[in-house]
Amino acid sequence: MTGPHRVQGIDITALAERFGTPLYVYDADVLRDVFTGLRERLHPAVDVFYSLKANPNVAVCERLGSLGAGAEISSLAELMTVRRAGIAPEDVIFLGPGKTPAELEACVTAGLYAVVCESLDEVAELERLAAAHDVADLPVLLRINPDFRTKGSGLAMSGKPRQFGIDAEVLRRSAGALAGLGRVRVRGFHAYMGTRFLNADDIVHNTREILALSGELAGRLGIDLDTVDFGGGFGVAYFDNEKDLDLATTVDGVNEAVESFLREHPGCRLINELGRYLAAPCGTYVVRALYVKESLGETFVIADGGTNHHMAAVGIGSFVKRNFPIRSLSRPAEDPAHTYTVTGPLCTPNDVVGKKVRLPRVVPGDLIGVERSGAYGPSASPGLFLSHGYPAEVMVHRGTAHLVRERDRAEELLAKQHTVGPDPAPGPAPESGARP
Ligand SMILES: *Cc1c(COP(=O)(O)O)cnc(C)c1O
Repeated sequence: MTGPHRVQGIDITALAERFGTPLYVYDADVLRDVFTGLRERLHPAVDVFYSLKANPNVAVCERLGSLGAGAEISSLAELMTVRRAGIAPEDVIFLGPGKTPAELEACVTAGLYAVVCESLDEVAELERLAAAHDVADLPVLLRINPDFRTKGSGLAMSGKPRQFGIDAEVLRRSAGALAGLGRVRVRGFHAYMGTRFLNADDIVHNTREILALSGELAGRLGIDLDTVDFGGGFGVAYFDNEKDLDLATTVDGVNEAVESFLREHPGCRLINELGRYLAAPCGTYVVRALYVKESLGETFVIADGGTNHHMAAVGIGSFVKRNFPIRSLSRPAEDPAHTYTVTGPLCTPNDVVGKKVRLPRVVPGDLIGVERSGAYGPSASPGLFLSHGYPAEVMVHRGTAHLVRERDRAEELLAKQHTVGPDPAPGPAPESGARP
């Protein structure tokens, strides 16, 4: 009953018939297993927060929230999403270098676990807003732009210029700026070292360094260290040359770092914020082949969806195109004896989902699935290119398929646009007294 073409026993071809294509299909069992697999291994002092950026679908948030995940959000819409998903504000942090006045106001009044401040000016503005809204206690985390060295290389990874966070060097000197705070309460620090880490040693090293730096800064600034968010960025293998993160080794190392940190800071809450690692494995992007054609010796499958919904499949930052795992959902039992370049419908040569992919024979009407696609899909893609809009999203939960996002319809896309109206009809030339 398993295989790439089935989700909890339901054939994806049946889902495509029912909900149409292009389509994202999420398997809630996989989402749960990934979360609990991490949760069960991770030190109990560490809470897992889901970064909505990876997949802001409210059902994905709801499932993760129901399993005990907190949330890391960066916009008013994401705040609304976690509310609707049933995640308590005490388990939500709001982060981002460009918070607008409206977002800051929501941060002050929403009762969040913490606002992650990305500058000292933002701290001062929150202090002012807290007074204006008569909020007596506003917890914040200070985001660090760290300056520690990476292991092994011996090269100083001295803090690169970044729009994110506060340079560690600036923080070391900011006791004065923080001393006058009456309503804003600094609970601790936050640091995020990047995305797509697939090496356990790197993650453990970064975690250790962030914890050490947080301890150092807290001591120097006289902060009663109550929370450290040590980021996340755990990767999943997409391409042939990649291997999945060794979770056991990673978590053992992280737990060890946490354990020794807690000896000096007993009772401190730790946060591990993750997007891709949690969301990617559960998702399959499903497209239907419209045409199969040859050009100068290469065979193309042209599908009804492509990079407009799955930009990541283009292969980020690599010169050589690398492919996500791509399968035939219509002929799962046949040998992958053919080579196809799978493209979407966009009028750009870059709309390539998979270059020279080995697949069983493909004929128009066949369904093709791009696996491990639950993170950074539609929300990180140019969904309005050619005005196709966003695809439908379906979640299979307890053996039942739920439509968790409706496909954009042309009328909806047009509803927000307005013409300026017709030009006035050409009438007789205006009378002019100057006429001879
Ligand atoms: C994007 C982002 C995340 C999520 O990153 P993943 O690699 O998807 O886990 C977490 N924290 C911050 C600050 C981010 O910007």
